[in-house]
Amino acid sequence: MATVEAASRAELTFPPARLFIGGDWVEAAGGRTLPVENPATEEILCEVAAAGAADVESAVAAARAALDGDWGWKTPARERGRILWRIADALEARIDEFARLETLDNGKPIFESRYVDVPAAVEALRYFAGWADKIMGETIPVSGPIVLAYTLREPVGVVAAITPWNFPLIQALWKIAPALACGNTVVHKPASYTPLSALKFAELAAEHGLPPGVLNVVTGSGAEVGNALVAHPGVAKISFTGSTEVGRDVMRGAAETVKRVTLELGGKSPNVVFADCDLEQAVAGAFHAIYFHGGQCCTAGSRLFVEKKVHQEFVERLAERSKERKLGDPLDEGTEQGPQVSDEQMKKILGYCELGQKQGATLRTGGQRFGPRGFFVEPTVFDNVRDDMAIARDEIFGPVVSVLPFTSYDEVIARANNTSYGLAAAIWTKDIDKAHRYARDVKAGTVWVNCYHVVDTTTPFGGFKQSGQGRENV
Ligand code: NAP
Repeated sequence: MATVEAASRAELTFPPARLFIGGDWVEAAGGRTLPVENPATEEILCEVAAAGAADVESAVAAARAALDGDWGWKTPARERGRILWRIADALEARIDEFARLETLDNGKPIFESRYVDVPAAVEALRYFAGWADKIMGETIPVSGPIVLAYTLREPVGVVAAITPWNFPLIQALWKIAPALACGNTVVHKPASYTPLSALKFAELAAEHGLPPGVLNVVTGSGAEVGNALVAHPGVAKISFTGSTEVGRDVMRGAAETVKRVTLELGGKSPNVVFADCDLEQAVAGAFHAIYFHGGQCCTAGSRLFVEKKVHQEFVERLAERSKERKLGDPLDEGTEQGPQVSDEQMKKILGYCELGQKQGATLRTGGQRFGPRGFFVEPTVFDNVRDDMAIARDEIFGPVVSVLPFTSYDEVIARANNTSYGLAAAIWTKDIDKAHRYARDVKAGTVWVNCYHVVDTTTPFGGFKQSGQGRENV
């Protein structure tokens, strides 16, 4: 595998090992730092500040001061929209730089960072910029001749945005852009594996007119910084995306101060292929559903139900295609799959590959680490998986698909819904009645018909059951 060239690193400046609070770079009160690793090479890219409770205190105070000062009521809604639009233009002008930063930090292939992640972040800014001056209250016809009753849409207050590592910039902007459009201020805690684009973005936003304190970024561990934000009485709302396990802790912690909570959590999405589909299209779709971003998607199509009539042929084609996927240096334009985000994630995935074989599933391809350096995992297909196996139940968050044969519609619906998750689902069929029936019957926040991973800022996103509560992009 080609290494990440020093030249490509040299063209980028990493953010300083400081926190972004009140419009300035400030050192963490405890003076501690955290290393940031390149998952493709295992090299340390730079250090970021490791904040503690005192820094969270400063960030919340800065956000509160901005809410009561230059932002909140004092900036007209249309002006907030203009500022967000300006920041979108500035980010778009620096797409290449942000894309390379995201790829070095996260390991995602450069074509994904360049054509999916950063453009989607720009889109989120523009979409919510447009909303800023279109959020209105109502007048209410109460009884009584001289009474006027109306509702006023107010900012919630200081919003804590806590984000995961798989889509660092998109997840951040899906929270920051709507919060700012509505006149809130934000303290953002990015994931410790991928903090760089969040820091760079806060600096860019400040350079393009966002007043000091409106957006603050506090890097550091979830246990310290995340917990402190959840517990802080000055934070009015937590918008959290991450694992179901941590989401439960966030909900419990927020109860103490009765905060509003939005939770976007894990998934184990059913992707159902009926024999009456376009088989070639469905194989390509199933491939994309599981392998996009190395399976590190909350919506990954990791439970692949295939009707028995086409099961053998389908698995054959999927396995052959999987063997041809190009893994390698994510900065290389031709690379289709980069490394997993960390050594820990890679080992977790490989552990599931072993467990799948021990529990009796048929390994059709993959199951191993790829290359001696970097956290790469081969695209992996397990066939003849039973619903009770760990690989069919747990969110693996890697390039591992479980193929589950089925015979009837009623059977597959019952099995698809037999999960604690409910984030996304898909169906492949030419029967339009069946497609609409499935969209209604399957318990998932998003249902795709003959496509997968089509996500847009204009469309609500979120889950049922333990995949979370609340919706983003609404
Ligand atoms: P995670 O471990 O739950 O971490 C998410 C964020 O929470 C990180 O910033 C983390 O900080 C922080 N955190 C950790 N412990 C905390 C605590 N006790 N209190 C407050 N914050 C805490 O999840 P992840 O491994 O980064 O991301 C993968 C998960 O995210 C998967 O389960 C995936 O399905 C889910 N996800 C869901 C969606 C969706 O929209 N539904 C989208 C993307 C990802 P550190 O990084 O410092 O630990």
